[in-house]
Amino acid sequence: MAKICVIGTGYVGLVTGTCFSDMGHQVTCLDINEHMINQLQNGVMPIYEPGLKQIVEQNVEAGRLDFTTSYKEALNNVEFAFIAVGTPSSDDGEADLQYIKMAADSIAENLDHPIIIVNKSTVPVGTGDWVSEIILNKNGQNTPKFTVVSNPEFLREGSAISDFMNPDRVVLGSTDPVAAQKVADLYEALRSPILITDLRTAEMIKYASNAFLATRISFINEIANICESLGADVREVAKGMGMDKRIGPSFLDAGLGWGGSCFPKDVTALTHMANTRGAHPQLLQAVLDINQNQRHRAVAKLEKALGTIKGKTIGVLGLSFKPNTDDIRYAPALDIIRILLKKGASVQAFDPQAMQASQAEIPDLILSQNPYDVARDADALLLATEWNEFKSLDFNKIKQNMRGNVLLDGRNIWDGQDLREMGFLYFGVGLPQPEQLA
Ligand code: NAD
Repeated sequence: MAKICVIGTGYVGLVTGTCFSDMGHQVTCLDINEHMINQLQNGVMPIYEPGLKQIVEQNVEAGRLDFTTSYKEALNNVEFAFIAVGTPSSDDGEADLQYIKMAADSIAENLDHPIIIVNKSTVPVGTGDWVSEIILNKNGQNTPKFTVVSNPEFLREGSAISDFMNPDRVVLGSTDPVAAQKVADLYEALRSPILITDLRTAEMIKYASNAFLATRISFINEIANICESLGADVREVAKGMGMDKRIGPSFLDAGLGWGGSCFPKDVTALTHMANTRGAHPQLLQAVLDINQNQRHRAVAKLEKALGTIKGKTIGVLGLSFKPNTDDIRYAPALDIIRILLKKGASVQAFDPQAMQASQAEIPDLILSQNPYDVARDADALLLATEWNEFKSLDFNKIKQNMRGNVLLDGRNIWDGQDLREMGFLYFGVGLPQPEQLA
């Protein structure tokens, strides 16, 4: 059993702390957000992640997991301090490291014994060394022995617990093999492959992995756009491609493009890193451009189908950037809604988990009670996030409630032929287009 502190109780930190406590370790989770910590101390989850509440409760009850805002308390006698604070984008695309700096400063101020600092946040290459410098500069020769190990996280929101407990691999980067091995021992019970590299390489593995996944999606979206102009079906194209073992089937779903708390900022940060070092990240730039264009293509399709956006009522199903999360960071739905509002539409939406947060971002957004309420008096309906509950709707009821008949299936989850037979003007992404749109 190890004594661990996890700094930052967002999607990564809370899941990391909870899972380590579930593996039998003694964990204190720390955040500077007092409201979040209050909620956690009272058994309220500050984020929506399937299954999380139950495991948190079990481990709090077992006395292995607690929450604090005090660095002094959290760092007391711990062997490992995991950093899992946010690393959002700055205006110029560079990763904003202010929260990492704050966390490093606070560790330095409260460090009174040897410790291994494990960085789980996604950070630009070289940040591990920079964190070491911050701590050494603060305490000078009096600094207790410490090592920084990079341990990028690959979990996905919506399946975060299972991803953490069953990782494809654990990546550890350090110049200190003893420290890296100690962190590896924490993960041993998961029986997954562990790759130990130097610090900078581990940091790069995370960016390269996210950039590659984003590239696959932008690639299939580009193919989808070509399919539309040639009358081919991208779903079958992706299936046929994915059967090739060299290609594989995942991350080949055409749609409205990627969003979320990771891909947009990570691809942008990697592009920024490359540019500032004189490299020419042409592919990454294209990946970003294609992704942005998917939002505009969706609006253009609606515009063509409706004649104009101005004065129309458009219903949107799904707001979170993907199903099974309440996270709306860089959500395609929100980008599209902003463009529609700007063009003079009225937009009403429903999402199982992300309604309040979305309205806080877009006050003009009208919230609906359920999918049928979204359809009421709508000229067009856009499926933006493929929550399971949107997969089999009562389209007779939808049709009765709608004023118009336009359905844009932004995730290709519905049966277009059935819907066309029912009288809808149905179109998806990368599918043969109805005559009205050709
Ligand atoms: P998040 O925004 O959900 O949570 C970050 C938390 O850190 C917040 O609760 C914030 O209050 C807290 N915080 C900020 N400064 C702090 C400080 N000085 N001390 C203590 N707490 C502080 O972020 P997230 O989505 O969990 O992501 C965290 C990191 O993990 C990012 O670098 C992200 O790129 C990476 N990551 C995220 C995911 C994901 O799916 N969300 C997956 C893999 C990696």
